[in-house]
Amino acid sequence: PYDVLIVGGGPAGAAAAVYAARKGVRTALLAERFGGQVMDTMGIENFISVPYTEGPKLSAGLEQHVKEYGVDIITEQRAASIARHKMIDLELESGATLSSKSVVLATGARWRELGVPGEAKYRNKGVAYCPHCDGPFFKGKHVGVIGGGNSGVEAAIDLAGIVEHVTVFEYADTLKADDVLQRKARSMPNVTIITSAQTTEINGDGNKVNGITYTDRLTGASQTIELAGVFVQIGLVPNTEWLKGSDLALNRFGEIEIDARGATSMPGVFAAGDATTVPYKQIVISMGAGATAALSAFDHLIRSSVE
Ligand code: FAD
Repeated sequence: PYDVLIVGGGPAGAAAAVYAARKGVRTALLAERFGGQVMDTMGIENFISVPYTEGPKLSAGLEQHVKEYGVDIITEQRAASIARHKMIDLELESGATLSSKSVVLATGARWRELGVPGEAKYRNKGVAYCPHCDGPFFKGKHVGVIGGGNSGVEAAIDLAGIVEHVTVFEYADTLKADDVLQRKARSMPNVTIITSAQTTEINGDGNKVNGITYTDRLTGASQTIELAGVFVQIGLVPNTEWLKGSDLALNRFGEIEIDARGATSMPGVFAAGDATTVPYKQIVISMGAGATAALSAFDHLIRSSVE
């Protein structure tokens, strides 16, 4: 058995692996794909102390750093379930089982996609999901935000300070965001809100986004608006479906409940990063959380009875 078994190879999992291995305990990292969401990211300008890098480069750096320690890296395998017996047993989709004295869950999340034509084609070419990350790339331009819930309206307020104009498109006839956010957005001269708008296509010139087409659900008319970028803000889905049958507490969004030490409701199981209830989902935040979870796992090991 392992001392610390990490599930996930994104920034949180990689940081947990380095911190655990540096304690000299037997560490393994299981990941479907090393790098996680970072592999899907183009420019990164908020990884502190590195003014600019790119996803695949940062990802390679994560992997290289983990490999410098004697961590068992198991990739292209998916965890299927977790249960606590004498040890913590992780069953894989392949049917194999890995056992460990402690586990760090860092399976991350994925942005919910609209699923309209043009979205996949122009991803990273004007279609964006993270305003903190990609907002500054649209300085002085007109951008759209799809989704009028809290994340969409927060994105609009955030972007309004950077870009020339923001138009929010909401499918329902009213915004779902908290009142205070709606009032703030409506008070900004460069924010327009369009409700009852069903986005049907993200348009582009072959290289980058140049607008969207939506159906006005009140009149049935199709409308096209010119935009330099489109932020899709219809939800972030944690990769925790596989934990649903376990004893592990998840909140109503499916995020793993953790405390300030990264401890979950299952003794010996810790969690970090975008898969958890952490309020902000970012690379530097995930790394810090991964380090916290690994240190907590080590603390758990030294306090547990020795076999
Ligand atoms: P992830 O990066 O999601 O990694 C999850 C890991 O778990 C992966 O290795 C995955 O393969 C593995 N996994 C999932 N399920 C299973 C399973 N069942 N079994 C085994 N392995 C599994 N943040 C910034 O700070 N700056 C940016 O500029 C930035 N830009 C972004 C751009 C895009 C397009 C996206 C999508 C995100 C961006 N983010 C950015 C957010 C950032 O990427 C995430 O906050 C960060 O990657 C979260 O790290 P994580 O380790 O928690 O999860």
